[in-house]
Amino acid sequence: CGVFGVFGIPNASSMGYYGLHALQHRGEESSGMCSVDSKDGSFNYHRGMGLVKEVFDQERLDGLPGDRIIGHVRYSTAGESKLANAQPLVFKYRDGDLAVATNGNIVNAPSIRRELEMQGSIFQTTSDTEVIAHLIARSKKDFVSAAKEALQRIIGGFAFLIMTNDKLLVASDPHGLRPLVMGKLGGGYVFASETCALETCGAVYERDVQPGELLVLDRDGMFEDRYSPIERRATCAMEYIYFARPDSDINGINLHSSRKRMGQKLALEAFIDADIVTGVPDSSISAAIGYAEQTGIPYELGLIKNKYTGRTFIQPSQELREKGVKMKLSAVRKVVEGKRVVMIDDSIVRGTTSLRIVNMLREAGATEVHVRITSPPFANPCYYGIDTPDRKELIASSKTVEEIRQAINADSLYFLSHEGLIDAVGGNDGAFNRGMCLACFDNDYPTPIDPNSEKSCSC
Ligand code: 5GP
Ligand code: SF4
Ligand code: MG
Repeated sequence: CGVFGVFGIPNASSMGYYGLHALQHRGEESSGMCSVDSKDGSFNYHRGMGLVKEVFDQERLDGLPGDRIIGHVRYSTAGESKLANAQPLVFKYRDGDLAVATNGNIVNAPSIRRELEMQGSIFQTTSDTEVIAHLIARSKKDFVSAAKEALQRIIGGFAFLIMTNDKLLVASDPHGLRPLVMGKLGGGYVFASETCALETCGAVYERDVQPGELLVLDRDGMFEDRYSPIERRATCAMEYIYFARPDSDINGINLHSSRKRMGQKLALEAFIDADIVTGVPDSSISAAIGYAEQTGIPYELGLIKNKYTGRTFIQPSQELREKGVKMKLSAVRKVVEGKRVVMIDDSIVRGTTSLRIVNMLREAGATEVHVRITSPPFANPCYYGIDTPDRKELIASSKTVEEIRQAINADSLYFLSHEGLIDAVGGNDGAFNRGMCLACFDNDYPTPIDPNSEKSCSC
C-alpha cells in the first residue's frame, strides 16, 4: 500500500490526488482520502474501489476542503478485498474524529484483536489497522500519549498517518521496515511512502522518517518525538528489489541505480554468453541495463508491457493472476527470434509467471533463455505488508535451484547472492545486513512472529 499526508497546505486534497496517483503502483485496489477543514476542524472523507483517477473527480475533491489530508492506496493480500477495508479508516473518537492510514502489517493484530473483543470491542472491518484505533480509543490518556502506548504494543512493519481534528501523527515501526519520507512545501509538510510522490507535487524532500519515530503536527508546528528506540534497522529488501518506483530514493539510495547495480552484480556472479539481455518490465529494466553494461551484451526490448493492465499480482485470485499475465506482457518477435536471450527478473514467487514468460520468449523464436534473478530464492512468507503467498506456494521453499530451473523451462537459472544484493543496495555499512530485512530469503525475521497469524495483512 501507499500513504500520503499533507499538513498546512491550502487545497490539500488536490495535492493528495497527485501524490496518491504517484503512489498508484503500491496499490490499485482502493483509494481514499480524509481531510480536515482548518476553519472548524470538521472531517470529510471519500473512499472507493479502484484507481485514484477512478475514485476521485473534481467534485469529490471539492468535497474535501482544508489544508490537511491523509490518503491511501491499497492492494489486497490474504485479507479481504472490499470497500469496508479501504482506507483511511475513520472513527468517532471522544468528541471528534480519528482517521488512520497505514502501509504495512501488524504481526500481533490477531491476538490484540481477540483480547479487545473479549473486553467488548466491536470491530467494523477485517483490516488489522483498526486495532490501533481501538487501542487509542480505549486509553484514558491524552491523544498523543495514547497513540504512543498503542504504537508500543503493536509489532510489525508499518508506516502510520493518524489524524484528529487538530493533530496529525506520523510514525514508522521500530525497524523502519516500510519506507516513509517527509517533504516541505511553503510553510507546510508532506509525508509519503516514496519520494516520487514529493517530486510530483513539487514538495522538497527533507528526510526519511526514522524507525521508532513519532512526529506530532498541530497548529504549533511539528514536534519530533519517538515512541521506541531504533531497533535493528531493517528496511524491506523487496522495496529495493521491485516494489518502489525507480525514480524514488529510500534512505537516500536511488532505486533505479541500486537495481542497476543488482544487474551488474548478477553479471559478475553468473555471466553467460548470449546475444541480447532483456528485462521483465517494469521493475527489471534497470537491472537488465546493469547486466548489459557489465557484460557488453546489448540490452534489448525483448518484452513489452501493456501499460493499461495493472500489476498482475495485485489481483487477488490465482485464476485472475493467470489470466492477467498474457494481458500484460508480450515478446517482441523480431527482437528475440533466433537469439540467445538473458532474461532478468526481480524474483520468482510461485514460478508460474516465470514459466509463462520463458515460454513466451521461446514461442517468439528465442533459441536459449537464461534467467537471472536480482534476489536470492524467495522461500519465506512476508509478515510485514508485502503480498506473498503462503510458504507452501513459494516454489523456493520446496525446490532446489535446479528443480526451479526445470519448472520454469529455462536453459540456466541463477539467483543473486545475499552478499551481492546487500552490496548492490549499498546501505549503512556497520549495520546488520547493512540495514535491510532479508527475511523472505533467509528466514531471519527482525521481529517476533505471532504463531496465530500465518500471514495477515492490513493493506
Ligand atoms: P512467478 O514466476 O513467481 O509466478 O512470478 C514472478 C514475477 O511476478 C516476479 O516479477 C514477481 O515480482 C511477481 N509476483 C508474482 N506473484 C507475486 C506475489 O504473490 N507477490 C509478489 N510480491 N510478487 C509476485
Ligand atoms: Fe520485505 Fe521480505 Fe522483509 Fe517482507 S520479509 S519486509 S518482503 S524483505
Ligand atoms: Mg515482475
